[in-house]
Amino acid sequence: MTARDDLVDDVAPAVELRGVGRTFATRKNTVVALQDIDLTIARGEFVSLIGPSGCGKSTLLRIVADLLEPSTGEVRVNGKPARQARLDQDYGIAFQQAGLLDWRTVQANIELPLELHGVGKPQRRERARELLELVGLADFAGHRPPQLSGGMQQRVAIARALAERPALLLMDEPFGALDEMTRERMQNELVRIAGETGAAVVFVTHSIPEAVFLSDRVVVMSPRPGRIAEIIPVALGARTEDTREAPGFYAGITQVREALRGRPVPDTVEVGVALSAADRAQGAL
Ligand code: ADP
Repeated sequence: MTARDDLVDDVAPAVELRGVGRTFATRKNTVVALQDIDLTIARGEFVSLIGPSGCGKSTLLRIVADLLEPSTGEVRVNGKPARQARLDQDYGIAFQQAGLLDWRTVQANIELPLELHGVGKPQRRERARELLELVGLADFAGHRPPQLSGGMQQRVAIARALAERPALLLMDEPFGALDEMTRERMQNELVRIAGETGAAVVFVTHSIPEAVFLSDRVVVMSPRPGRIAEIIPVALGARTEDTREAPGFYAGITQVREALRGRPVPDTVEVGVALSAADRAQGAL
């Protein structure tokens, strides 16, 4: 790689999708899962994908991860073809099921991707310790996954996804199986972790409040064929617990809900403008 390529990689967006489509041919019929997807996600940006079941959210995430090939269009991750980004471990992935190995300790689960890529034991230990600290599980290094709650297991999965310092985190309903209270706590944690690591996040969810709370932009998708219906910017500033009570948060929820119903969303209105001076004083902006 030349110095110039390095420069290009540094400024390239985290994700670029141009004219992406995906068709699945089954014995009975052909399903157009995605059509005409154009989306650019900046470095460090948090973007949620939301839409009814079957609108292609998971397919889109899997295409970015190079787990599936698009039928049409171009995908670049960190300025590289998706295949190269996968080989370079440019992203981490977390799914709804934490997918941990029950017979390995929490620490050994987090070390797994590093072990697979030949990182030496002392460096693995050190990185796992940092990550356990980051996800608030420093006291649980020696536990095994079945000894942990669902929320704790998801934190281990997130730590594992971050092991190789990816610039991009791909998450497919990672909190979908958690109860509401744990879910909100995990959202707070994720906002903090994304801020501290500077990673861009592409986050699939069915929850409107979750999408609005977490995201810089919410991508609302519509089904048959899966397309982008609206992209809603959320300008709520640094998230705190008060954000969940802020008028701008509710305004965002309404906007996303309207977009999901197929009603037009005025694109001059950014979520967050409805925040009052009192909200700003509380640090919600
Ligand atoms: P979502 O994640 O939004 O629920 P998916 O991306 O899972 O949607 O699926 C989008 C559409 O593509 C659905 O109609 C689904 O049935 C279809 N689909 C997804 N994967 C396959 C596959 N491997 N074979 C056939 N059809 C598929």
